[in-house]
Amino acid sequence: MIPADHPRYRSLLARERLASCAREGVVSLEGLAAHGRGEAFDYLIGERTTESALLAERTAAAMLLSARSPVISVNGNTAALAAASIAELQSASRAGVEVNLFHRTEERVEKITRLLESAGVEVLSGRAEPLLPLSHARALCLREGIFSADSVLVPLEDGDRCQALVSMGKRVIAIDLNPLSRTARTATLTVVDELTRALPSITGACGEIDPEEGERLMRSPDNSYFLRAALDEIRGNLEHALD
Ligand code: ATP
Repeated sequence: MIPADHPRYRSLLARERLASCAREGVVSLEGLAAHGRGEAFDYLIGERTTESALLAERTAAAMLLSARSPVISVNGNTAALAAASIAELQSASRAGVEVNLFHRTEERVEKITRLLESAGVEVLSGRAEPLLPLSHARALCLREGIFSADSVLVPLEDGDRCQALVSMGKRVIAIDLNPLSRTARTATLTVVDELTRALPSITGACGEIDPEEGERLMRSPDNSYFLRAALDEIRGNLEHALD
């Protein structure tokens, strides 16, 4: 039992949740390592949603709302940490939700699907086919899901797959705390924020944006602006770390 007044309460809770989901086979062991990298960057960013991340979140909402066929790609970590938030974002944005795994087994896809459904997510189903320009299991996705989507939200994606989606002409929105990752640098838009802060913020914005603001946001700064802003934030935090 983690005491609620522990200074690292949220972080410890997330670790406990991921560890228990790893024991159940929902989260991969590699997913635990990826979470650690995310935590390190969250420390550097100050464990809060920065102003530029907030703008990226509103822009992400505008992109999802204006998409013809938006899909949210969900992996084990995302399902473990944010299944209910995915359900809320799905109903605010009318996006499809597809389970798409780097370390893919049909058993894990099944377990993650059940977890998402128990939180109220409508999960796309069907037979995954090798439709992405990647080798082996990483090429697999649903023809009626990610393959046909014009915009894909990929929380916690790996760089190769992000690149593959962009090369297929899709608008890719990444959520990634590491502004230096290949994912962050290749996505159309990167939200440099922690997943469980970013998703509710994007959902909230979906309910607030009117068409005029949506159009303005779609013309908002390009991805490199958001990455530079995150790096500036980190630099500032480091400079003042021992003040
Ligand atoms: P790339 O292949 O894009 O260079 P990578 O090898 O770092 O990136 P992964 O190991 O798949 O990619 O890690 C996933 C990314 O997700 C990491 O960059 C990490 O910072 C980020 N991340 C992990 N947990 C969270 C979280 N809870 N919220 C936001 N980002 C996270």
